[in-house]
This record gives sequence, structure tokens and C-alpha cells, in this order.
Amino acid sequence: LEFISTISYRDPLVGIISLFSIVLLVWLLNYAINRYKSIQKSKQLERFVENFITSQNSSEIEFEKLVSEYPSSAKMLFVLANGYFLSGEYEKSARFLTLILKHTAKNDKDTTVNVMLTLSRSYIRLGFLGRAKAVLIELLHLQPRNEAALKELVSISARTNEYSDSLGATEALSEINNKYSKYADFFHAMMALKNGKLQEPVLDLNPYFTRERAKLLLVNNELRVLFDLASQNNNAKYLTDILWQTYPSDEHMEQIRLSSELSQIFGAKGLLECEKYDSFELEVMSQIHDKNIADLVFKYRCNCCSKEELDYFAICKKCLTLSSCEIEPVLAKKSPNVFSLESFS
Ligand SMILES: [Zn+2]
Repeated sequence: LEFISTISYRDPLVGIISLFSIVLLVWLLNYAINRYKSIQKSKQLERFVENFITSQNSSEIEFEKLVSEYPSSAKMLFVLANGYFLSGEYEKSARFLTLILKHTAKNDKDTTVNVMLTLSRSYIRLGFLGRAKAVLIELLHLQPRNEAALKELVSISARTNEYSDSLGATEALSEINNKYSKYADFFHAMMALKNGKLQEPVLDLNPYFTRERAKLLLVNNELRVLFDLASQNNNAKYLTDILWQTYPSDEHMEQIRLSSELSQIFGAKGLLECEKYDSFELEVMSQIHDKNIADLVFKYRCNCCSKEELDYFAICKKCLTLSSCEIEPVLAKKSPNVFSLESFS
């Protein structure tokens, strides 16, 4: 204090000290306000989360109480949880079924198996294929020849294109019923294809393998062999989109004219005169191919459930039918303003 009283207020030191005091005061005030704000914010977040947890779990808490009070009534509780599954509330059915598995007596094997099967189906609907697979494998430990579980396991493999994991499941299925043996053959052939060992005998198994061979021939420019393959056993209808990309020379035209399907495809391209067309789109294309106003694009549709995919498929991911993909040519208008590499020529 003595120091302060000895210096005159005109001293420049007073100005500096008061400036620093003001800066310090502002900083402290700002810090306190920010701290208060962040505390309020975290409280608000806590309240929100609390609210979220209690509101979402109230029915779950009730259910858990029910399950722990009546551990021997798994069958009845399963009916309740299955109701959620049937009404499309898969998240709820998955949670409730897990609670049943956790609390109830395991001596009722049939109900446990049913609970696990519906749990795996709930996970499949929710998109958790890995979890669904784990539940199914656990179920098959309990009941190795459960047809429904084996089928779900095979369907997961078909959806994810992972065939090696479910080879055993397809074999078990074909032992239960011979109608499933084509799935086992198909899975074996898909694995061979993945390992680069596509063999001639599998070509008949699924048009998918014929297409793989055709693609290879196209890449290697073996057009004569490709057109031969397309002329056999009505293969052309599985290869329309691949054939549409080829540019045959004069030496191939005689070979093409021998097949009605090939004549229609290359007639639509304007390479030969074709009298009769089965497809409306190909016929229209044959009339306007030289006007450069339209092109053909291709759609891939399951002839059992009508599901469409972006590319050709060997097995329908929705209804699991083998060899059900149909190629549908569609006319697409060419826009004159589109800037593409072709516009250079
Ligand atoms: Zn289908």
C-alpha cells in the first residue's frame, strides 16, 4: 500500500497496473461465464440422456421383471416377444428374446430353439448379419439338423457372397431333403470360381457360370468361341448384355445368322437384316440405331419375386431362388447435350 500511495496517479505505472487489472477481470469474468455455460450444458445433456433411457426402456424393465418372476414360462413370454417380431418391431423383439434367453430355464429345448431362431431373424431384419450368424451357429449346437436354421444360415451366405462358411450347412440341408442338393452344388461351384478354378461341367449349373466364361472370352477377344457358347442351349438370353458390347467382324456374320437370338441382337445393332423380333425393345432399336437418339440399357430382375438388382445375380438375395435372374433390355434416350468421350469422334 505504501508503494501504491507513494506513486502519483499521474505516473504511467498506474495506467499499466489498471490496464492489467481490467484485462484480468475481463478474463476471469469470461472464464466464469463459460464454466457456468458448460456445466448447464452437461446437466441438460444428462437430463436428456436420462429421459431417453427411461422412456425407451420402460417396457423392457417391465418385461425383465416379468421374465425374472416367471422363469419357467418361457413359452408364454416367447409368444409375447414373437408378437413384436410379427408386427415388424425387430429391435424390441431382439431385446426381449435376449432377455428370455438370459433368464428363463433352458430345459425347454424346443422353446429355446424357437427363441434363438426368431432372435436370429430379428437380427437379419435389422441388418446385423454377423450376430444373426452367431445365434444360428449356437442354435445348431443344440439341434444340428434344424432345417429352418440351416436355411437362414445359407441365406446369410448368399446375401454376403461368402460361400465357404456355409458349405457345411448346405450339405446338411441336402441330407435332410434332396431338393437342397442344388444349393450345395452351387456353393461348391461358387467357391471354385472364387479360387479361379471354373470348370466346364459347372457351366450348366447356373447361367451365372456361363456368363463368367463369356466375360473371359470377351476380354480375350475370342469372339468365335463366345458366339458358339451363345448359340448353344438358348444361352443367348443370359448373355444379351454381354453380346451387346461386342463388335463382330464380317467373318463372324455367317455364324451369327445361324442363330435366331444372335440375329435379333445384332439386327438391333444394325449389323444385319432380321425379319422377326421377340423383344419390342430390340425391334425398335433396329429401326433407330443409326439415328443416335437412343441406346439399350439392361435391367436384372428375379422372375420369382420381381426384385431388381444392378447386376446379374446367381441367387436372388430376397427369395433365394437359384437361376431366376432375367435380363430385360430397356430403351434409354440419348441426350444430345451429354459430353462424353464419344463426342470427340
Ligand atoms: Zn427373388
